[in-house]
Amino acid sequence: MLQNVAVGRDNLDKYRAAAGDAAVEELRRLASTLQGLRVLHLNATAYGGGVAEILRSEVPLLRDLGIVARWKTIPGSNEFFAVTKAIHNALQGGTRGVTPAEWDIYEQTSVLAAAHVEESYDIVVVHDPQPLMLRHLVGRRDAIWIWRCHIDSSAPDPAVLARLVPLLSEYDAAVYTLGSFAPPDAPPARVEIIPPAIDPLSPKNMDLDEGVATEVLDWIGVDVTRPLLLQVSRFDHWKDPLGVIAAYRIVKRRMPEVQLALVGSMALDDPEGWQVYHEISSDAGDDPDIYLFTNLTGVGNIEVNAFQRHADVAIQKSLREGFGLVVSEALWKGTPVVAGRAGGIPLQLADGVGGYLVDSVEECAERVLELLRDPAAGRRLAHAGRELVRRRFLLPRLIGDELRLYADLLEQHPAPPRTLTAAGITGEDRDPVCGMRLHPDADHQLSHAGKRYRFCSASCAREFAQNPELFLRTASRGAP
Ligand code: UDP
Repeated sequence: MLQNVAVGRDNLDKYRAAAGDAAVEELRRLASTLQGLRVLHLNATAYGGGVAEILRSEVPLLRDLGIVARWKTIPGSNEFFAVTKAIHNALQGGTRGVTPAEWDIYEQTSVLAAAHVEESYDIVVVHDPQPLMLRHLVGRRDAIWIWRCHIDSSAPDPAVLARLVPLLSEYDAAVYTLGSFAPPDAPPARVEIIPPAIDPLSPKNMDLDEGVATEVLDWIGVDVTRPLLLQVSRFDHWKDPLGVIAAYRIVKRRMPEVQLALVGSMALDDPEGWQVYHEISSDAGDDPDIYLFTNLTGVGNIEVNAFQRHADVAIQKSLREGFGLVVSEALWKGTPVVAGRAGGIPLQLADGVGGYLVDSVEECAERVLELLRDPAAGRRLAHAGRELVRRRFLLPRLIGDELRLYADLLEQHPAPPRTLTAAGITGEDRDPVCGMRLHPDADHQLSHAGKRYRFCSASCAREFAQNPELFLRTASRGAP
């Protein structure tokens, strides 16, 4: 059985205060030609991790826009999810590979799941590798199929990618978070760059009174009078939790009162979680100032909200990262972030806004100390980060990008806007690194091979300058 995830319907107008009237009206315009469109989002889990987080908020809003949106998850055993995690790791550059027996398990479970795709859809969006094979097994059935990859797949294990290429070639389009993530020479021809976004109104991100946040953490057992460092993420080696503990220990030698909370959810489709949890627990030893929490011990959305709001510094020391929603989540709450220079994180901490990018444990500790010693500077940084999140990483922007893609693939374009949006964005000119739509006067520009390219920020321009070909291979595969 495919599991239907019941999420109801939301009201987009509630987002006017956070995202602006223009963004809401633009979504209604974009949806005007897509009324009654049947869209299925298919992934592997209804909770834990960024994909579930986004779909939980996005699907109810798509419904409010007149789209018949459904969210379903594929069934899978631990054995199956161990295989799909191996594929995930291989796409992120891991070297362990996937054995022939594991590919058999992948195929057998996919066949079982495919038998349960019964209804008809106009668009099927398949998230990440777990349900990837369903397009092949189900057949086109008059739908447009989009593969939405949330992983940094810029340097995948070639053998694993080779197995996936025939499956990918059957898709109408692939969506990646960054221009550099599309694996070289992999199908399909149509590639779109759309970074994820957070929901400012979800229980995790909604306004929460400081006093309430403090009481929640006090109840959990954190000493709310002492400085607190925080990393919220699945328990996964790519998120480098042991590196976070190492950085905390350096900080603690100079500031003994500091505490660290590692908050991690156990996603159904990530069987490595418990193994990494035990490694962290053993490394933390009997230090009473290291807290280890999971959703299974009652730390849910509101508690994460309280942690991200109350922490003095949020850390996200990822070694590889698709996007890292947690960075935007912390910035949205006015908390400065120190994070690994990986994947989509620099998009959110561009140009020294919001916090610091780091490349080592020592650098992480230095930056954390700097922020702990000068909280006012940290708050200023975070305030700028919150404004960046407001402009670029709130849900309405993500939904708009996706609706434009649907309309484009269906050739059902809405009438052009009567005026430019309040932000002055026409929607035509895109940053080749992050896919953002650019202001007509975006002033970050570079010339390469006789052509001028424009960018949303100096950091995107810098990334492009380091290796233009990485981004041009995507730009040339996008819409004309
Ligand atoms: N998350 C959570 N509880 C936890 C750990 C993570 O709710 O204990 C959420 C986190 O707030 C974020 C998502 O899971 O919304 C993780 O998304 P991200 O893009 O950071 O990483 P992913 O898990 O997709 O690699």
